Amino acid sequence: MAGIVLDGIEKAFGDTRVLKGVSLAFDAGAFVSLVGPSGCGKTTLLRIIAGLESADRGRVTIGGTDVTGRRAADRDVAMVFQNYALYPHMTVEQNMALPLVMRRLSAFERAPFLGRLVSGTADRRIAIRREVKEAAKLLSIDHLMARRPGQLSGGQRQRVALGRAIVRHPKAFLMDEPLSNLDAALRHDMRRELVDLHRRVGVTTVYVTHDQAEAMTMSDRVAVMLGGVVLQFGSPREVYEQPATIDVAKFIGSPRINTLPGEAGTDGRVSLAGHLTGEVAPRASGPLQLGIRPEHLTLAAEGIAVGVRHVEFLGAEVLVYGQTEAGGTPVILRLDPAAWEAAPSRESIRVAPLAGRLLAFDAGGTRIGLISAAAARQV
Ligand code: ATP
Repeated sequence: MAGIVLDGIEKAFGDTRVLKGVSLAFDAGAFVSLVGPSGCGKTTLLRIIAGLESADRGRVTIGGTDVTGRRAADRDVAMVFQNYALYPHMTVEQNMALPLVMRRLSAFERAPFLGRLVSGTADRRIAIRREVKEAAKLLSIDHLMARRPGQLSGGQRQRVALGRAIVRHPKAFLMDEPLSNLDAALRHDMRRELVDLHRRVGVTTVYVTHDQAEAMTMSDRVAVMLGGVVLQFGSPREVYEQPATIDVAKFIGSPRINTLPGEAGTDGRVSLAGHLTGEVAPRASGPLQLGIRPEHLTLAAEGIAVGVRHVEFLGAEVLVYGQTEAGGTPVILRLDPAAWEAAPSRESIRVAPLAGRLLAFDAGGTRIGLISAAAARQV
């Protein structure tokens, strides 16, 4: 297995600086997502890892080998694209066998689970078929081998594209929005399948998506990108609970985190919408931005007054959309349906943050800490 190290990657297209010094290290065998809004540079970064694009500056190391100057074909990585890139006139089996047929024999002989030298064309053909069959079984498409891509569903096509990557036994899988052409239900199923496949094959996987839920549910670690820089690289839980910046906090999580203006006094005590809420730790003073996830706001008799705009009942939870009566800041709550049922009013409510859940960001958007748990109360 091979880890991937990116060191100071920079890239510009003309005057547009698309990557502004990206350094990341992916552990061997990890499933890592590059996530961020459209245009943040994630596809360009993936293409630089693949060797399909060259960096202006910086180095790419795969499995301990510096591959910066190497062509894509000599990096031993497999790309999986959103449009699958299958050949319509070939069968599933031929599509999957293609990388092995094209590959120099010497490289193929090194395929780990053949475990023996393959010589002569007939032997080679048998070995290729066996390899393709193994991968097809792994993906449950072994009954489709004689079909052509036009006779397959979107999900089946995606599996063929994955199979074509698997047969190569690459050092890494590089996936660019591989599920984006599938409908919502299939997309959801394929997420689990990809994770399961990764667990069984164990190959380092770099996965590009603009869908934060996809990144969060599939990955060991997530790199959140914005404007050509990595804002944070951490586990899904870290980026959710301890976002490095307000932009990470806003991008990760749905519905979006609530942000409210706050003010820390010289004594470090924070007021939020006219309420004294606690002390910021570590101590800071001046204007703050406060962040609170929708599920970390509760109904509280002494809380901040919020006018309800609309309510979404989702079965297991209720989303309440409103705005603060003083200031008109939008607020979203994710509540238990029973708690909502018990609310004294459903037009004007009072809300308070749960203890220890109010995140404090400085005026520039960098997280500086939490509002101290013990003191996070309304007065
Ligand atoms: P998306 O999710 O929309 O694919 P992304 O985060 O993957 O976005 P990139 O595809 O890496 O973003 O593109 C980053 C920026 O670089 C965009 O502004 C894009 O227009 C620009 N760009 C990408 N490729 C080229 C190119 N070959 N020539 C010029 N500009 C490019």
